[in-house]
Amino acid sequence: MNRKDIEKDIKVQLEVLEKAVKNNLEGSYLKGRKSSWKLFFKFLFKINLPWIMLIISLIFGVVSVKLGVKFISYQSKFFGGDLEQKTILIGIGIMAASMVVGTCSNYIRDYTTNKISRNIRISLWNKIVRLPMTAYQSLSPREMISRITQDADLMGTAFITIIVTMFTQTYGVFEYLKQIYEVDKSLAYIQFAILPIFLILKFIAGRINYNISIRSRFKFASLTRYMVSILLNIPLIKSYNKEEYEKSRGDVAIEEYTKYQFRSEAFGIGFDLIDQVFQTLNDVVCIVYGAYLVNQGKIDIGVWITFYMFSSGIYASIQVITNLWPLAKSMQGSMQRVSDIMELEEEDVREEQEEALEIEDIHVKDVSFSYSDKKVLEQVELVFEKNKTTAVIGSSGSGKTTLLSLLSRFYQVSDGAIYNGDTNINEYSLSKWRKSIAYLQQESIVFHMSIRENLTYGLNRSVTDEELFRVLEKVGLDSFIATLPLGLDQILMENGRSISGGERQRLAIARILLRDPKIVLLDEATANLDRISERLVSQAFEVLAKDRTMIIVAHRLSTIKNADKIIVMETGKVVGVGTHQQLKETNSAYQNLIKREGGEDDEE
Ligand code: ADP
Repeated sequence: MNRKDIEKDIKVQLEVLEKAVKNNLEGSYLKGRKSSWKLFFKFLFKINLPWIMLIISLIFGVVSVKLGVKFISYQSKFFGGDLEQKTILIGIGIMAASMVVGTCSNYIRDYTTNKISRNIRISLWNKIVRLPMTAYQSLSPREMISRITQDADLMGTAFITIIVTMFTQTYGVFEYLKQIYEVDKSLAYIQFAILPIFLILKFIAGRINYNISIRSRFKFASLTRYMVSILLNIPLIKSYNKEEYEKSRGDVAIEEYTKYQFRSEAFGIGFDLIDQVFQTLNDVVCIVYGAYLVNQGKIDIGVWITFYMFSSGIYASIQVITNLWPLAKSMQGSMQRVSDIMELEEEDVREEQEEALEIEDIHVKDVSFSYSDKKVLEQVELVFEKNKTTAVIGSSGSGKTTLLSLLSRFYQVSDGAIYNGDTNINEYSLSKWRKSIAYLQQESIVFHMSIRENLTYGLNRSVTDEELFRVLEKVGLDSFIATLPLGLDQILMENGRSISGGERQRLAIARILLRDPKIVLLDEATANLDRISERLVSQAFEVLAKDRTMIIVAHRLSTIKNADKIIVMETGKVVGVGTHQQLKETNSAYQNLIKREGGEDDEE
């Protein structure tokens, strides 16, 4: 591959990465978004703004400008030759007051910023824990965390900075304009003529500058993503001898980024030049025309200096206001991303003190389901009998886990319905239905908390140690826990790394026994275990199965063959129902699955 081909190749890849970064930054996972302003105001009321603090901040801002104006007039008095003790003392007094007001203002500002960020975080977290499963598919944990941390921080800071700075600096400009008009009208008219041109130019240049700098940020992000993807795959690159190729691609990617970075910086320098040209123009007008007025005896030196200081103040304030543009754009991005989450519909999962549900036979009637437009279940018709064990078997991707998810109401069926006896399960409140169901996965979830807290998680009653040990005994974990130095208070490592896979599953079974739901869904719950652990966990299943409707998804013959009923699935359809013996004799799909699992000889 020559350099030209490599260049073409990496440019295409970088563009794809850049698009991904852009989509991520603009939060494009939500279609049909509302306009930013509408969202902005909706958001203001949702996050419970600290209005009083905000108003105090603005008042401090106004006082600060007033003091600034006063100080300038005293400065001009000094420079004009007024060195009376009283003038000096008042001047010093204003300086001290400015300092106090400035410090208080900073304090209030930081407090308000943090309060806003905190309110955003709380609103977001509240929303995130209640989202339906579909939302977690389009949002990765990393994205959600960055909304709660970075975006919430940026919004707090930007919101206060923009509102307070914009308000006080705009007020400052008007106050300075008023002052210069009072000081000398002819000088003020010249100023009024130059200012609009300055403002328009700054506005246009600000937009262009922002667009160029954001482009360079995108380039930087795509370069980083590319390098991460390479560094994570070093063994592959080495084994295919692609070091030279990746080196060349990296060179091109770096050059591409540098080109944009330089373009952005060069424009930034041009952008600053506008400030300098106008500032100088203003100085020249003030000095030349002012000197002429002084020579003519129309104004004295004090007035000349006052004018100069106020007009410089105007330019400084306008610079501060126009420099808020990038911050405002970043805030817009953050707000859009945060609002995209806030706009999502949440599940109604309020906990209610209700009686437990009476569970009857579960009928899956003519159920179809699709993830987006991918059909996964097609007209499934099944019955899970009350207090019986039903095993669901089928090759990978046949829709078994999806069926369990529908039973848990993690997703809504696209067609058909699931009934508990004669009642559509959607008629029950989510919390009531989920209270009746336990879901045990391949890798049970263990929190980084004590064993006691892990066992009683989600229980709304107090439990004695005797009860805990009775349950632990049923799953064969009592003596293991008793040997731990802290017993039930032993803290488990994150992801349960301090206990074995089998112990973790049995702990999860004990948790289920304590909660006592009437339906238990097991999804490949022994798939990752060795034979000895599997046997121990299976014994715990037998305890669990007593007086409960068990639905087991598994591929090991030893786990399923004693089930009261076995359901065979293939590409989203039910292709066989019966006992192990019946299916073994009559169902070819089942026979194939047994063969694939190593036949019956392997079952022990
Ligand atoms: P099984 O448990 O039988 O292996 P699943 O129910 O997990 O099957 O998956 C059935 C099909 O649905 C598979 O083709 C899988 O790729 C797809 N699928 C599963 N989960 C999702 C999802 N969250 N989004 C899109 N497709 C999915």
